[in-house]
Amino acid sequence: MEEIRQNRRPHCLVLVFPTQGHVNPMLQLSKRLNYKGVRVTLVASRFLCNTLQFKSTSIALESISDGFDDGGIATAGSDKAYIDRFWDVGPKTFEELLQRLTSSGNSIDCVVYDSFIPWALEVTKKFGIMGAVFFTQSCAVNSIYYHVYHGNLKIPVTDDKSEILLPALPPLAFSDLPSFLNVLGLYPGFTDMVVNQFSNIEKVDWVLCNSFYELEPQVADWQSKIFPLKTIGPTIPSKFLDRRFKDDNAYGFSFYKEEDEACMKWLNNKPAGSVVYVSFGSLVVLDSDQMEEIAWGLNDSGSYFLWVVRDPEKPKLPKDFLDMSQNKQGLVVTWCPQLQVLNHEAVGCFVTHCGWNSTLEAVSLGVPMVAVPQWTDQPTDAKYIKDVWKMGVKAEADEKGIVRREKLKKCIQEVMQSERGKEMKRNAIKWKTLAATACDEGGSTDKNIDDFVASFAPTLNGGSKTRC
Ligand code: UDP
Repeated sequence: MEEIRQNRRPHCLVLVFPTQGHVNPMLQLSKRLNYKGVRVTLVASRFLCNTLQFKSTSIALESISDGFDDGGIATAGSDKAYIDRFWDVGPKTFEELLQRLTSSGNSIDCVVYDSFIPWALEVTKKFGIMGAVFFTQSCAVNSIYYHVYHGNLKIPVTDDKSEILLPALPPLAFSDLPSFLNVLGLYPGFTDMVVNQFSNIEKVDWVLCNSFYELEPQVADWQSKIFPLKTIGPTIPSKFLDRRFKDDNAYGFSFYKEEDEACMKWLNNKPAGSVVYVSFGSLVVLDSDQMEEIAWGLNDSGSYFLWVVRDPEKPKLPKDFLDMSQNKQGLVVTWCPQLQVLNHEAVGCFVTHCGWNSTLEAVSLGVPMVAVPQWTDQPTDAKYIKDVWKMGVKAEADEKGIVRREKLKKCIQEVMQSERGKEMKRNAIKWKTLAATACDEGGSTDKNIDDFVASFAPTLNGGSKTRC
């Protein structure tokens, strides 16, 4: 202990899964640990380390191989090919890294690893180091996968119209389940991966989840009886939550180049609450048909809109749509600073694919949503947005799986203009306040992070007041 106090700060390694939606939350947790006095080394794939513009004076960066050092996940060909190769070379190169660090006097007190890569725990334990798994999806979604892993929910789940009843969760319809459970075969690698997150959970020292207690109290209580859960979210820069750490105002990492100035300038000229912000995150690929319906639904809604369309998706925009809308009613950008956009007073509604980070960001910034879930955990997040937190509506798809323009228009108008929309906004503000309180000094998340830190760095005693 004396050694920790005098010679070195406690050291935590944070091993990420290399996609935007997984790096963002783990990087934010790293910053919070750092503020508490812990030295953090972020470990990412070689490809990510070579490409990401990551500048931090307080967080070190190290790499392992996922087998795709030159092109990353996008060059793997399929999810299964990526996972097979990563599982083959990842553990070896992670072990080499731990060997190198520990033998060069860089002792490690704890490894936090993404739940998608459970093999990281086996490697960590070889070195006798504490291991904490980090779940980047909601507690509810994790519970569903837990039940699948234990055979309590058989996959594929078939649509027999009856409600699915699981402990501490609201009754779920077939369409509320994560897509990997009801459409088997489309992404065999991912399906196995999300279920196997629980393959060695009984050996782990801590289970960290990017959620906050007040958002999912029943399921968090239920899980706490089964494994050592700590809700440590929302992992969003402090500026947008508790504001304790003034320099923490952006994720500081992006796969894409943000069009900050164009977005902010455009938003600055719009009245409060008048803009619909639309984004489907970093991975979703929409059908051309769906793209066209969204385009005309936005156009017909009569509201201003700011729509993120990544470059590969741009050719799917209807030909005359951009000429008609761009710069008058709407602005289409390749990538934007989403937190700043959601925080802008001009934004009144978020049309979202319900990725967990986007959902938590809207919760934390008090923005009501139109849920247009596409795959993976998004349908379950949409269920919570609409029926549990009551801060949005879901735009239902037709029998072909497409949300039609008329449906989208109605949903936007309901959120932006109706009495129910005002109630959703009030609920959204309630969640925003609860999120900030959870992260602030003495809040549920803050206390959980303190407990976690104290377990491997008792001398820090609930966290130092170190600020970056
Ligand atoms: N994001 C962003 N700019 C954009 C669109 C998205 O910064 O124009 C960020 C967003 O703030 C979120 C992440 O990308 O943190 C997307 O994660 P999410 O879990 O919502 O979806 P995924 O990309 O994993 O499907």
